[in-house]
Amino acid sequence: MSGNRTAEPTGPALASAADAVTRSFERMAEVRAGADGLNIILWSDREWAVAAARDVDVRRAAGEELGPLAGIPFAVKDNIATLHLPTTCGSRILEGYVSPYEATVVSRLREAGAVPIAKTNMDEFAMGSSTEYSAYGPARNPVDPSRVPGGSSGGSAAAVAAGIVRVALGSETGGSVRQPAAYCGVVGVKPTYGRVSRYGLVAFASSLDQVGVFGSTVDDAALAMEVIAGHDPLDSTSAPRPVPRYRDEAAADVRGMVIGKPKEYFPDSLDRGIAALCDRALEALARQGAEVREISLKHTPLAIPVYYIVAPAEASSNLARFDGVRYGLRVSGDGLRGMYEATRSRGFGPEVTRRILLGTYVLSAGYYDAYYKKAQEVRTLIAADFRQVFDAGHSHVDVIFTPTAPTPAFELGAKADPYEMYLNDIFTATANLAGIPAISVPIGRLRGLPVGGQLMASHFEEPQMFRAAYALERALGGEAQR
Ligand code: GLN
Repeated sequence: MSGNRTAEPTGPALASAADAVTRSFERMAEVRAGADGLNIILWSDREWAVAAARDVDVRRAAGEELGPLAGIPFAVKDNIATLHLPTTCGSRILEGYVSPYEATVVSRLREAGAVPIAKTNMDEFAMGSSTEYSAYGPARNPVDPSRVPGGSSGGSAAAVAAGIVRVALGSETGGSVRQPAAYCGVVGVKPTYGRVSRYGLVAFASSLDQVGVFGSTVDDAALAMEVIAGHDPLDSTSAPRPVPRYRDEAAADVRGMVIGKPKEYFPDSLDRGIAALCDRALEALARQGAEVREISLKHTPLAIPVYYIVAPAEASSNLARFDGVRYGLRVSGDGLRGMYEATRSRGFGPEVTRRILLGTYVLSAGYYDAYYKKAQEVRTLIAADFRQVFDAGHSHVDVIFTPTAPTPAFELGAKADPYEMYLNDIFTATANLAGIPAISVPIGRLRGLPVGGQLMASHFEEPQMFRAAYALERALGGEAQR
């Protein structure tokens, strides 16, 4: 990571990896990251982490060539398998569960020299947009603790925003990295479907899920993405394509780049303040030589109904494995069936239960065609909208710019109606449905709260996305934090 763009003194400037890790733990204490404070960190083991960092230092001292993230501490969302810390998905059903294997993304970061220091709070099984649905209590936004950090990867976003780590892992099914990144004022990336291995990511909705990264800057996020991306023989849906060097895009400018502004993402009802910050961001890109073009993605209004059929359907199937036999919690009941019922009733929270019921319903024989099949058909139309605007023969835009979320971070408890919560994903769920890459970058503040701008690109066009993101970050400079 290039030193001059970073906010936190945890990088190579420090004497040792052990110092960097120690500093992360001190910062956790300063901001009260645990259950008695922000509640953004669920599990951590200081002794293990410092020892792992010392190992990096020993190898460095021995003259060993170390990876690009040598000695950098990172945080991991609690639905990504780690060997030495629990993996509970923010759920009671997995309380105390420690995975016997490690997620590929974690292995790759470790091979690059980075040190996993903590597991972060999340909405149970990544279902939610606020990190209030965690079985271990709601997390709080370090910018304003009366507000949510967003979700479902709220703990990871907040850990970066609070200066505990520069890099953190999250997961994306419908916006769970980008939306909390926007709420906390950090960078969040969702890669192309298949770009990053899902091995060791606990499945929510397999056709939508991808591991994503948070960074304190675009550069931090680009470097982490470079390290975790690429084919993995353990995940048959990972793409066997070479990984470009995303950071090389940092120097490239956006002259001649065509940036699409889809009208469906800027409705009249959009918060005036958010619209104004988006205009400022687009003007900044235009000043750097990009061309802004109005476009239409006409099936956008159907994204939420489609997402909330497809995602629960896949979840109902994926979560069948938590049966009291194979993992974690077991509550005895009347016979085998009674044990299943007691375990799942006690183990799953209300939102997860709601999704399982909904998903089972839309997949049932009588309703499959009316709901699930229909939703898949409309999903194809949403993907086709994107294909058309990125198509050289059509609109031919290189990237699309939109707000990441319709509002800044809301107060804890403000969205009691689940449907209200679902509407939060309106600008992010589309990229997951279409499988395209997207990033959220800070573009300013509204009433003191961070606002994110989203850049989306065509499949495997992460380089274009990063190029625009670097340019935006450069152009806005300190204004992105004002
Ligand atoms: N908020 C969305 C949901 O609740 C997205 C979650 C995610 O991306 N994991 O399903």
